[in-house]
Amino acid sequence: MSGAGVVCAVALGSNLGDRHEHLSAALAALGSAAGVTVERVSRFWETEPVGPPGQGRYLNAAVVLTTTLSARTLLDLLQRIERDRGRDRSDGVRNGPRTLDLDLLLYGQQTIREPGLEVPHPRMLERPFVLGPLAEVAPDLVHPTTGKRVESFASICPGLVGTEYSGPARGSSLPPP
Ligand code: AMP
Repeated sequence: MSGAGVVCAVALGSNLGDRHEHLSAALAALGSAAGVTVERVSRFWETEPVGPPGQGRYLNAAVVLTTTLSARTLLDLLQRIERDRGRDRSDGVRNGPRTLDLDLLLYGQQTIREPGLEVPHPRMLERPFVLGPLAEVAPDLVHPTTGKRVESFASICPGLVGTEYSGPARGSSLPPP
């Protein structure tokens, strides 16, 4: 790792509008944020939506970064980037369509349970669309509450096999949404 600070993992997802553009803009915003160094970026994976029916497919990705920000300040940054990409939470639909969703998965080996901030992310181990991209960029990261490497979850995760991905993250080979 090249940057200073805590090694973190963040999941990205989009299924509304120009999905590729939303993910790319989020990566650019993270890359230019003070106190954040983007270390590794996964490919963009195209996945089936989880949640209410009638939604389009997602593009998902994962990023490993190092940061000198606190977990809370990093979450604030992620939410600001979501808002900048037009994220609207006002419909209150859980797992509904969204322009951009950024989840803080891991913050070093810390376990945080506070109002509005839980790390490791409580649902990350149930989600193939998180574990697939994460295992691509951070197979050796340890999930602190289980003590297991990320890779071990990806390989046992039902539903991961058959998850489609759409080629290089920044290539032009992605099919239209
Ligand atoms: P979502 O609608 O899935 O983006 O959930 C966002 C809500 O989850 C916000 O109220 C966050 O404060 C809360 N939250 C708790 N822990 C996390 C986390 N590790 N990463 C992202 N959001 C989190």
